[in-house]
Amino acid sequence: MQIIRRNTYEITVGNTKIGGNNPVIVQSMIKSRSGASELIINEINDLQNAGCEIIRIAVPDRQAVAALKSMIKNKIFKVPVIADVHFDPDLAVEAIESGAGCVRVNPGNMGGIQRLAGIALKAKEKKSALRIGVNSGSLDKKILKSNSGNIIDSMVFSALEVVALFEKLGFRNFKISAKASSVTDTISVYETLSSKTRYPLHLGITEAGPPFTGAIKSAVGLGILLSKGIGDTLRVSLTDSSVNEVKAAYTILSSLGLRHFGANIISCPTCGRTRVDLAKVVSSVEKITDGINKNLKIAVMGCIVNGPGEAKDADIGIAYGIKKAAIFVRGKSIKRVYIDVVLKEFEKELQSML
Ligand code: SF4
Repeated sequence: MQIIRRNTYEITVGNTKIGGNNPVIVQSMIKSRSGASELIINEINDLQNAGCEIIRIAVPDRQAVAALKSMIKNKIFKVPVIADVHFDPDLAVEAIESGAGCVRVNPGNMGGIQRLAGIALKAKEKKSALRIGVNSGSLDKKILKSNSGNIIDSMVFSALEVVALFEKLGFRNFKISAKASSVTDTISVYETLSSKTRYPLHLGITEAGPPFTGAIKSAVGLGILLSKGIGDTLRVSLTDSSVNEVKAAYTILSSLGLRHFGANIISCPTCGRTRVDLAKVVSSVEKITDGINKNLKIAVMGCIVNGPGEAKDADIGIAYGIKKAAIFVRGKSIKRVYIDVVLKEFEKELQSML
């Protein structure tokens, strides 16, 4: 199946192009407490090493905007930064002036959309971008009422109302997000938006939840949208580390063949034939391959039934037998070694491929 991406407008966030023919961009958000500068800088570095391509950061007050300005000045960010501002249009303007590549504004909590006009004009002047970030939990009550309480219609209306305002002001460097915590509502909102506007769409399921359920909800919701060609950037929101959000985002994208980043481990679910603690082996392989930026398919299989076939199909693989395991490299069985040394041998072969 080939995914045909929707033809959206191209916008620029910092030095990154979004929409148009550009790949789907992976985004995450800093979770360290605002003001904890050392923790924030470590998290930014971890995210950048994990392949995060845009970093959003909460800017709740003047102290946070000053900290952002200093981090931008000191070149802490190697990727574009989005300032997340709520309630205070003046703070959004200050975030743009501080050098943020983009500011996320929520039309539901800025005191009416006319207050977004000044932010758009400042973004236009500074060649910054904006993200219209509609959220199902903070919709303007008047909009909800005029759409008879329908969440999907209200979210679409709220986003398009701001689009019309920005266009009237001659400002077009923006993307749109419209996140709901319901997966089906999110799909409906983005499908409708995609049919009504060509501005790039940032995908996400808001408050998706703890790691396991959150990743599944995101994979279902975002996967359905991405498979229809909808979405230009995405964030997998998890109650987990931001690095794991990035890993989950790449896993979703690589399962659809849209992006690849680092090691793609495939492993069998195990069954009565397995004679090795495969979960432990896989977790060791994850540790060994953590931080690899080269696209590699790595197979770890529990027995000789499907093992050799799957391992052969991978760049590198292990298929376990009873006392020994076979190591495959690009389709060829290159050695059979005793089980107690297989991981050491695997790592040696892996290193020679990097
Ligand atoms: Fe069972 Fe072998 Fe399949 Fe793993 S590869 S699930 S051990 S049959």
